[in-house]
Amino acid sequence: SITSTAVRGEAGRIAAYRCIARDVTGHKKLEAQLLQAQKMEAIGQLTGGIAHDFNNILTAIIGYGSVLKMKMREDNPLRAHVDGLLRSAESAAALTHGLLAFGRKQIITLKPMRLNVIVTGVTRLVSRLIGEDIRFRTVLTEDDPVVTADGGQIEQVLMNLGTNAMDAMPGGGVLTVKTEVVRLESDFVQAHGYGSPGDYALMTVSDTGTGMDKKTLQKIFEPFFTTKEVGKGTGLGLSIVYGVIKQHNGYINVYSEPGAGTTFRIYLPLSGEALEEKALQEHEAPVGGSETILIAEDSEEVRNLTKSILEEFGYTVITAVDGEEAVERFMENRERIGLLLFDVIMPRKNGKEAYDEIRKTAADVKAIFLSGYTEEIIQKRGLVEEGLNLISKPIAPTLLLKKIRETLDKG
Ligand code: ADP
Ligand code: MG
Repeated sequence: SITSTAVRGEAGRIAAYRCIARDVTGHKKLEAQLLQAQKMEAIGQLTGGIAHDFNNILTAIIGYGSVLKMKMREDNPLRAHVDGLLRSAESAAALTHGLLAFGRKQIITLKPMRLNVIVTGVTRLVSRLIGEDIRFRTVLTEDDPVVTADGGQIEQVLMNLGTNAMDAMPGGGVLTVKTEVVRLESDFVQAHGYGSPGDYALMTVSDTGTGMDKKTLQKIFEPFFTTKEVGKGTGLGLSIVYGVIKQHNGYINVYSEPGAGTTFRIYLPLSGEALEEKALQEHEAPVGGSETILIAEDSEEVRNLTKSILEEFGYTVITAVDGEEAVERFMENRERIGLLLFDVIMPRKNGKEAYDEIRKTAADVKAIFLSGYTEEIIQKRGLVEEGLNLISKPIAPTLLLKKIRETLDKG
């Protein structure tokens, strides 16, 4: 950027120019970064919002479908149709989950985990996926970094990057996943607008495939951006990766050139907490009960559906359409009610407010909260921090029943 002014001599004639020249390269770069960040934010909000509402509808479809199937005899020929319906609804749910992940509206459970262990777990899956002419290498650091992460989500990140790498190497090649601990200096922090100086876990996924040109690189994280033919690509893979890494307070960047392969680098903050062994989740048949449960849920479909599932398994159900009614119903029936099943976001008193009010008269009342997404509200009201039970929608009936039984049987 150059600013210049004329310097005039006696007769008013221009004798010289005075110039100030500034290098604005850094400025321009930051400007472009900001624009890109704002664009991603806007798309994220839009998709996250749509996905959230859609998710509620799917909760009802999957729930009714499951109840229908439970009520059909094994030999009913119509079961195949119900299965087809459930399969479609589940792929729709997978799609909305992708969008929720991109919009960072998905509930994630963060706990300290060994990055190397997550990578090793995925290795088995990925090596089964890739063809014979692709070599798969993992290079794991001996530093054994512990990150605060949702293991399942990081696995998904690796799977998505792995499948893309595979697609980019139709004639074979090498896929490398590497972990290390790196120190980010202040110039990195300044240049990328991420983090603060210190140690981070770095996970690098690189391939020797086709690579990408600049134009493609600019758009790869956007939902539905794909260069693949119809039916092959959804354009959601990297959007999910982007959302998940952001939700982990991490940072992702990509380096690629046409013909020179692609390298994704993912930085994750190291965890200071101690490791806690991951409990194994077993698959169990759902168990019902005979207690009375108070459901508060503003969506009529979800409310009726949850009611019919619970009644199917022996429970007595009382319903309320919002938080205020929930408090009233509780006061009328407080001797009978064994558990509260509250939606987090409701009109006229949200789930947490209703719960708090009820606790004033019944201090040890048990409760489970249902939520479609991690609204900031949830964090602010401290639901998660207080260690309260939270289930995300769409609810799988078996999971709901399991959680209810566990909560009722505790203490
Ligand atoms: P999809 O794989 O369904 O197309 P993604 O969001 O996973 O959607 O990727 C978006 C696009 O980014 C791809 O269509 C491809 O053009 C490009 N891309 C992603 N990963 C790679 C890679 N490893 N090598 C080359 N191109 C890639
Ligand atoms: Mg993909």
